[in-house]
Amino acid sequence: MTPERKNILAVEDEPKILEVVASFMESRGYRVFPAAGGEEALAIFDRENIALVLLDLMLPDMPGEEVCRRIRRSSRAPVIMLTAKVEEENLLEGLGLGADDYIRKPFSLKELGARAEAAIRRASDDLTPLVAKNSFRGGDLTVDFEKNTVKKKGREAALTPSEMRLLAALMKYPGKVCTRAQLIDAAFGDEFDGYDRAVDNHIKNLRQKIEDDSKDPDYVLTVHGLGYKFGGE
Ligand code: CA
Repeated sequence: MTPERKNILAVEDEPKILEVVASFMESRGYRVFPAAGGEEALAIFDRENIALVLLDLMLPDMPGEEVCRRIRRSSRAPVIMLTAKVEEENLLEGLGLGADDYIRKPFSLKELGARAEAAIRRASDDLTPLVAKNSFRGGDLTVDFEKNTVKKKGREAALTPSEMRLLAALMKYPGKVCTRAQLIDAAFGDEFDGYDRAVDNHIKNLRQKIEDDSKDPDYVLTVHGLGYKFGGE
């Protein structure tokens, strides 16, 4: 079985740069969706499962910063900004756009490849727990982070993305108490715009899906006055 190719969205209005970047990333084993402007890029982003965005800062129809901002409304996919001038980098640092990295033009393809791979690796690390174990209490609960599935007593538990992220955050450091603030940061990052008590509601729903008795949980344990921890063995 060949591993699934990851999708990269490459946004650049200079056709030659776009072509070189696209063919290089294709040669590294990625599938590249090219876009010459912001609107086109956002349409592709909505339609495809994009693992990384390479984003030119100066685009004809809208600034790259606006593209980045709109991507961040719904996604934590890594964004690497491609900047033409040092002044643009200063601008980026000040804006807090939610870009993960930036590369100054002209860049070497080797550098681009290394930065792209690092950004994708960091993003997938996010959801990968440190524990290799994925089956708890003799198979009562099984978690497959690659397939994004959770089974309770062999039946799919149908977690929402928020519940899945919370579970992953709790499992990342088994036995360690996570505060609400830490859970928000780990599970939702910048896109979370609710109050921290909203985490409690997600926890409640998560428990209803994976616990035998949500009032006497085995997996998502309350640590009074501190937060939550994962109790699976
Ligand atoms: Ca440009």
